[in-house]
Amino acid sequence: MKSLKELFRIGYGPSSSHTMGPRTAAEKYLRKHPTASRYKVTLYGSLAATGKGHLTDAAISEVLGPHRTQIQWCPDIVLPFHPNGMKFEIVDEQGSPHEAWTVFSVGGGALAEEGESELNTPDVYELNHLADIMRWCSERGMDYWNYVDHCEGTEIWDYLREVWQVMVEAVERGLEHEGVLPGGLNLQRKAPRYYIKAMGYGKNLQSRGLVFSYALAVSEENAGGGRIVTAPTCGSCGVVPSVLYHIHKSRQMSDIRILHALATAGVVGNVAKTLASISGAEAGCQAEVGVACAMAAAAANYCFGGGLNTVEYAAEMGLEHHLGMTCDPICGLVQIPCIERNAHAAARALDANMYATFAEGIHHISYDKAVIVMGKTGRDLPSLYRETSEGGLAEEYYK
Ligand code: SF4
Repeated sequence: MKSLKELFRIGYGPSSSHTMGPRTAAEKYLRKHPTASRYKVTLYGSLAATGKGHLTDAAISEVLGPHRTQIQWCPDIVLPFHPNGMKFEIVDEQGSPHEAWTVFSVGGGALAEEGESELNTPDVYELNHLADIMRWCSERGMDYWNYVDHCEGTEIWDYLREVWQVMVEAVERGLEHEGVLPGGLNLQRKAPRYYIKAMGYGKNLQSRGLVFSYALAVSEENAGGGRIVTAPTCGSCGVVPSVLYHIHKSRQMSDIRILHALATAGVVGNVAKTLASISGAEAGCQAEVGVACAMAAAAANYCFGGGLNTVEYAAEMGLEHHLGMTCDPICGLVQIPCIERNAHAAARALDANMYATFAEGIHHISYDKAVIVMGKTGRDLPSLYRETSEGGLAEEYYK
């Protein structure tokens, strides 16, 4: 598995695969060909189908230069390696293209060339299955975060501290930001109102209302192009911060425990990324919000004193009960159903934590198996439901 730095990426929304990934690809191409007078970028499959709503063209043109960049949209051509394909070319004086580079935005902001899992990033974890990691930890009397420390070295904690800081800032900014989100749906930001209403309720309802408000805050910041952390993607970036911020505030949880919880969530997300996918275009929303819920459930369970088994069960439940969930964002914007979906997944993560605690970790389906099923289900989903905005809610909205 790759470093957690490849999973928790700090950047700007609204989409890790459709905005962050293409922006990084454009930066790489520009570094190689800085002096070209014109560039042509062809977007394929899902990148072309929902790229306008996700601001894919804007992200690429901003890097290469808006006046010298031509974007070609090919939503009907899906390259076999991955649905998020893009081809960069230089165009000469005669209008002929040269120096073609085809690259894929494979989820969470990561890039890959055909046949590779991710560009130029080494594996830093030897074990890819949670069952093996659990065994490694159990034999040494350790927790999941110890395995992160063992594989990544102590500098990972500085990075996770920065991640946590950006998450906190996104929650707190989002709770203050009012107004309408960009994109044309005229969707109003809801986080400040949810927060204020929640504060007026008694303890139980307040707790749930606050979790909703924190997730809305981060997801709305993302939809508005704000600075967030992919956890594991931009579209699902509200779930983990919401749960951790809530636990941090309501239980006076120490920063170090929150960082250990983030590392635990990272292991869970990394296993899904390695064995299946964290890309909505590849495997539907189960791979984004489903994995985010698993990560948050594991983090919550660790925070509340869970051991290796209950953390694994909480993660499994967070993912299992999102299996089959489609990706059909209206107008290709990361707004409906994405923003509300983050709020619900945050609440579900806390439920999964509690359920796993009551069950004392005893269960029949392992997290690894749920991940494998998620990958298979994703491949079986028609492309209508994999971030093309051609089916489901995206289609029904205009009827
Ligand atoms: S529906 Fe889910 S997978 Fe699709 S863009 Fe929204 S958050 Fe991402």
